[in-house]
Amino acid sequence: MTDVGEMKIDPTRAAALTSQIKSVSERIAAVGKGRNVRLVAVSKLKPANDILALAQPQPESGIEPQFHFGENYAQELAQKAELLPRNIRWHFIGGLQSGHCKNLAKIPNLWCVSSVDTLKKAQLLDRYRGEFISAFTSSSSSSSEVPEKLNIHVQVNTSGEASKSGCAPGSETVELCRAVKDAPNLHLLGLMTIGAIARSVATTAENENEDFVTLKEQRDLVAKELGLVDNLELSMGMSEDFEGAIAMGSDEVRVGSTIFGTRPSKADAKIQE
Ligand SMILES: *Cc1c(COP(=O)(O)O)cnc(C)c1O
Repeated sequence: MTDVGEMKIDPTRAAALTSQIKSVSERIAAVGKGRNVRLVAVSKLKPANDILALAQPQPESGIEPQFHFGENYAQELAQKAELLPRNIRWHFIGGLQSGHCKNLAKIPNLWCVSSVDTLKKAQLLDRYRGEFISAFTSSSSSSSEVPEKLNIHVQVNTSGEASKSGCAPGSETVELCRAVKDAPNLHLLGLMTIGAIARSVATTAENENEDFVTLKEQRDLVAKELGLVDNLELSMGMSEDFEGAIAMGSDEVRVGSTIFGTRPSKADAKIQE
């Protein structure tokens, strides 16, 4: 791992990020009413310096360090994971391609893949995570370093838009969840949706978003069909609509631009500043 001491953190930028994440956390707490809602800070196309600024303890700010970060591009995630401390919990939330499953599964602190939408991709992640875990256990490294099973959200295309990935509600979602649940190196954590942008914009605490209604129904269907006792979690809600999502029972929100500001184009993005 690169010495984090080499990475520059601009104090003005760090203070701005801290104040933004604090404000988002307060808004989450206000609607969450004591429920535990995970905040994934979506850092795609933002430099590793920004992530490090939030992951470092800042006792004077009165907030806990942030460890859950979401990324959309497999290579960018891999590069940032190399640069940044191992205690970060990475979430892959972008469009998942079969060709990326091997590299992703071998990132030791990849905590969750939130965009599993086909059986093939689930099988690839399971196989490569399994290989990675056995490589650790057969070597002499200390047990604390052994990577864990990969948490999985099955992505559901609740809006039915051709441009969105995700499996169709109903039997497709149920059967993919069953396969993930039975995979030895994966852990079925819950369901994820992005939903239609128009519905996001119209979402308020009072105006229920249809995509969130559908995701909840799918969660209940999967729990019934698979006979689950522990409830599956719901990952829904982004900058535009996270408060409405929490009001509807979301367990995880993925917030990017409200914390980090507008994103550069992919061509202009830098891994490190
Ligand atoms: C980019 C992205 C987000 C964050 O979006 P913001 O509107 O910037 O909060 C959340 N979820 C997914 C799947 C994303 O791709």
